[in-house]
Amino acid sequence: MKLDFALFAMGAALSLTTAAYAAGGSTGHAFYGDPPDDRHAWCIHDQNRPQPKVVAPLPVSELEQKAKAPADAIALFGGTEACLSKWCSDKNPNEPTKWIVRNGNMECVPKSGYVRTKEEFGDCQLHVEWAAPTPPEGESQGRGNSGIFLLGVEIQVLDNYQNKTYADGYACSMYGVNPPLANALRPPGEFQYIDITFHKPVYKDDKCVQPGWVTVYCNGILVQDRTQIEGPTGHRARAKVGPLPDKGPLKLQDHGNPVRFRNIWYRPLPPAAAKGGVRGPLSAKATAAKRKEIAASIRKDAACKPEGSAEQMLRFAESLVYEKDDATFQKVEQMAGQYAAALKQLPADKAGSKKDEVIQVDSAFKYLAKWNFVPENFGPKVEVANFIKAQGWDKKPKKK
Ligand code: MG
Repeated sequence: MKLDFALFAMGAALSLTTAAYAAGGSTGHAFYGDPPDDRHAWCIHDQNRPQPKVVAPLPVSELEQKAKAPADAIALFGGTEACLSKWCSDKNPNEPTKWIVRNGNMECVPKSGYVRTKEEFGDCQLHVEWAAPTPPEGESQGRGNSGIFLLGVEIQVLDNYQNKTYADGYACSMYGVNPPLANALRPPGEFQYIDITFHKPVYKDDKCVQPGWVTVYCNGILVQDRTQIEGPTGHRARAKVGPLPDKGPLKLQDHGNPVRFRNIWYRPLPPAAAKGGVRGPLSAKATAAKRKEIAASIRKDAACKPEGSAEQMLRFAESLVYEKDDATFQKVEQMAGQYAAALKQLPADKAGSKKDEVIQVDSAFKYLAKWNFVPENFGPKVEVANFIKAQGWDKKPKKK
């Protein structure tokens, strides 16, 4: 009896493993990685998680246009042997990488280790092209596996063309966290065009004040849509949530397959608002500070305009939109009063030459009144509007 039970148990365990393998990749463990919790409905590498749907990639001709590095991009690999000087061994950063350049592609030499850039960067737009070996060998995670690592977060590289695996391990998954929205891969041997935007989370005093996000396009198809970063990619384990370093190298994974890479470039993104920059929503305090700064810059510019000119008056008036300032308001009020008085003195034959300027002043005064930067009955506003009426400039030209 005892033996029967042992055999039965062994059989059950074997069939479990086989079932997992048949579903697209053996994890070698029962069941999978870390179990579901209150924020994750599936285990890590859960075979029950729905497979990404297959979506046709965009044509190469279209992708090639978009793949050209913009003028402000920083090239990391352009296709020559010399480009390898920008890379080093990840394990021994003082040593050159053992990856090779063949036919303009940087190719992983299996078992040589990860490769990393010498350059370090943080928030970025990153473009990478990769191709899996052909003919394809192996299956599930064993076929054309590599990875794109930014600050420890892996965007999976895998040949999933007619090759299933667990959903959160597909090509362009945030590995172990989020499957791609679609499987838009080309066949092995053909290059995949990957575009990533990466924003790391912002922490202040150990508190996350702005989550980090990753967006990925695979062959022109959106596959990660601002997927929240949890932390550096772990092995069958939930990421440790916490701050990421400000900067780090781009790393490419050696997972034992000679995956090829080409045309790698990035554009650093300006600092997030929550980090003192202007990208993304500003806090009320930062908004007030920024408005004060803009107003000061406009007033500085106004001070350089011809003294007493309409141009100078309008520039000072414009600064009120950013910051209320009594002294500036009084200056504008005084200049506007003088402007309106001068208009009244203008000889009739000179009025025409002032038309554009007067209409501009009128429109500025109307804007300022509409948004309560000056009162609705602001004297100069009324006088300028009356002047326009007297000239007949307020009448719309008759349609013919
Ligand atoms: Mg990988």
